[in-house]
Amino acid sequence: MDEEAAPKRDKNGPKFHCLPHSTQGSARMGTRKKVHTFVRVKPTDDFAHEMIKYGDDNKSIDIHLKKDTRRGVVNNQQTDWSFKLDGVLHNASQDLVYETVAKDVVAQALDGYNGTIMCYGQTGAGKTYTMTGTTENYKHRGILPRALQQVFRMIEERPTHAITVRVSYLEIYNESLFDLLSTLPYVGPSVTPMTIVENPQGVFIKGLSVHLTSQEEDAFSLLFEGETNRIIASHTMNKNSSRSHCIFTIYVEAHSRTLSDEKYITSKINLVDLAGSERLGKSGSEGRVLKEATYINKSLSFLEQAIIALGDQKREHIPFRQCKLTHALKDSLGGNCNMVLLTNIYGEAAQLEETLSSLRFASRMKLVTTEPAINKKYDAERMVKNLEKELALLKQELAIHDSLANRTLVNYDPMDEIQIAEINSQVRRYLEGTLDEIDIINLRQIQEVFNQFRVVLSQQEQEVESALRRKYTLIDKNDFAAISAVQKAGLVDVDGHLVGEPDGQGFGLGVTPFSAKPGKKSKSKKTFKEQLSSSARKEGASSPVSGKELDVSTSKTQLTPSSKEGDVKDMTIRERETSSIEPLPSDSPKEELRPPRPSTPPPKPVAFEDFKNERGSEINRIFKENKSILNERRKRASETTQRINAIKREMDVTKEALNFQKSLREKQGEYENKGLMIIDEEEFLLILKLKDLKKQYRTEYQDLRDLRAEIQYCQHLVDQCRHRLLTEFDIWYNESFFIPEDLQVALKPGGSIRPGMVPVSRIMSLGEDAQDKFSQLQQVLLPEGPDSVAFYNAKVKTEQKVTWGFMSPGSPGQGLPAGDNVSMGATMNRRQGTEDHMQLRQS
Ligand code: ADP
Ligand code: MG
Repeated sequence: MDEEAAPKRDKNGPKFHCLPHSTQGSARMGTRKKVHTFVRVKPTDDFAHEMIKYGDDNKSIDIHLKKDTRRGVVNNQQTDWSFKLDGVLHNASQDLVYETVAKDVVAQALDGYNGTIMCYGQTGAGKTYTMTGTTENYKHRGILPRALQQVFRMIEERPTHAITVRVSYLEIYNESLFDLLSTLPYVGPSVTPMTIVENPQGVFIKGLSVHLTSQEEDAFSLLFEGETNRIIASHTMNKNSSRSHCIFTIYVEAHSRTLSDEKYITSKINLVDLAGSERLGKSGSEGRVLKEATYINKSLSFLEQAIIALGDQKREHIPFRQCKLTHALKDSLGGNCNMVLLTNIYGEAAQLEETLSSLRFASRMKLVTTEPAINKKYDAERMVKNLEKELALLKQELAIHDSLANRTLVNYDPMDEIQIAEINSQVRRYLEGTLDEIDIINLRQIQEVFNQFRVVLSQQEQEVESALRRKYTLIDKNDFAAISAVQKAGLVDVDGHLVGEPDGQGFGLGVTPFSAKPGKKSKSKKTFKEQLSSSARKEGASSPVSGKELDVSTSKTQLTPSSKEGDVKDMTIRERETSSIEPLPSDSPKEELRPPRPSTPPPKPVAFEDFKNERGSEINRIFKENKSILNERRKRASETTQRINAIKREMDVTKEALNFQKSLREKQGEYENKGLMIIDEEEFLLILKLKDLKKQYRTEYQDLRDLRAEIQYCQHLVDQCRHRLLTEFDIWYNESFFIPEDLQVALKPGGSIRPGMVPVSRIMSLGEDAQDKFSQLQQVLLPEGPDSVAFYNAKVKTEQKVTWGFMSPGSPGQGLPAGDNVSMGATMNRRQGTEDHMQLRQS
């Protein structure tokens, strides 16, 4: 991999340093961290001083290779390398090695960071010595026991956390996985071979035993158990221990003891003792050794490939799954771990080639950057407990708020079926108009109200649709067979237009006979054709029939003074339907009662007068009533004021007279009897009169105060009525003069839209297409009877459901609410409780 080395020159001739300072990793993100690489040189008496030199800061190794004389004088072979590292450990004690290499990684693992420490190098260079150390001599113990010690020491220092430690010991030999702790009595032999499994939480080895250790001693005995097994296996299974990779993993999980926090941290420390890295061929191996070497070379070269990929910021795919080693270490190489590579080398000249190879590996590893991150997890059980606690607390708080706001018996629990049914009924009554408002109780109830609105609405939609389907047959415009059948029957012409009957005996429109109508200005029945021509004549309207003509109103507000309310109430729908199919002569005199809509709307003041007699009559009556009560109260107040003033004047006069009497008495000399003043009759009467006046004054004054309060209240009602009257007028004005007549049918009582529900702008903005469709439908299809117009109106509206929804047809609350079903009684003289009952509509 010499291409990685950038030339380095000094006075001794050409020199190469293996790794130029890479800025790739650190430049990308501030939190990125390079893999720490250290070199440990195995102590030797035969150190190659001329060939191996350390930098002054002990952070680089320069290698100088003597010229190969066998290759002749002309020799371009590279002879000098310089490797930048994070530290060179020469003749370093196990203690120093641990301090330099592992201490920080282990410490950070307790804060939630994963850590990986790997020993790489040729066989015999000291990997196992570094990692495990000698088990006989405590002083020479390696990273593994020291790491366990540090972990338990740190746990002792953190009494605020409940920290658990688990360990596992995995060996990979010839691409097979072995559990070095499977011999423990409680583990039992594994039935299925171990496999590497990936899940969102990371990589784990299925079948590998993981052991909970509560203290240092347990952990050590597990370590020795594994080490012993490793040695035994090297004999019984003829395994060469230096030909296998060993991964000792410490799993840490820390929960806070003080905070009832559902968050907790986990981490794992992978301590990896890699197999010898020496290349095949050099040892001239054969047979089993060859197989081992092949596997090792393969896995180490896959490790190298993964590391090269990890070091290349442009690479997206890292080939982790090429071998067991890289696959098992997938989430421990690079990624979010703290990573350290310790390269063990010989310091002897004979091993220089392998040393070079190991240092190259180290320098490649140095290119890799990681992004250490804390592994935060959530304890679901604790989270539920905390949320339950919080919920209880909030409920208590709510209860306090409710009692402060004098709201009792508010239930915040989920609603039961009965409560939901009650809300459903409220919503229905609201839509019908028999309920003016739905009291807000809490959020849950508001949500349920909306929910029930949807339920009721969709039910009504279905009802309307099925009612229509029961009565009419819809012919699809694209259903040519059906259309041609209709054409054959002579009902429509080839263009789909209705074939009219010249003598007016064709299909009449559903027009209620006048007698059945509640005394309203209504057109009489005409044949469809007649209506078509007459409406075209009158206003040149695009729609063939005015929706108003189909209206049968049950609403009081639509009544003129001559209305026959009884007729309306008694008339059943059946009657309306049967009567509607009978065509009436076209020259019905009643036609004049309903004047056609003027081409220009009347001025508002004029229209307002009409409105007050028509739809607004009821509200206007109430308005007037309220106003007269207000005026009456005002009058009474002013009378009372006058009386009070009169009383006051008389009181003043009386007081003056009394004072005069008193002064007279004083002049004449006073009489006293047993401590009581003797006064004459005149003075006595004056006193009585003053007392009486005072009493009157107080009563009248009290009355005046009450009257004023009533006036204020009454004024409020009058204002509200006025506002309501004007609002209703605006709606009426728009609906009467601006909304296309063919759409007005929907706005009529019994139509599908409650007046005022749809802003006029929305109706006016009905798309061209929808309008076209509407009139086409009307023209094409009237095979089932004149009432089909309503059906097609409904169809058009169904298609426009996006704009507005259906309401129940003929529900009593439609149109302006009639006084007897939606009025809210507001008693003016609540103290007196009897007189002057005012009516007010809630707007
Ligand atoms: P590897 O695991 O790399 O094949 P070992 O760790 O087994 O090599 O080391 C081979 C031999 O060298 C062992 O007997 C070990 O005790 C010894 N050894 C290695 N490194 C050192 C060192 N730094 N100090 C003392 N002895 C060492
Ligand atoms: Mg070893």
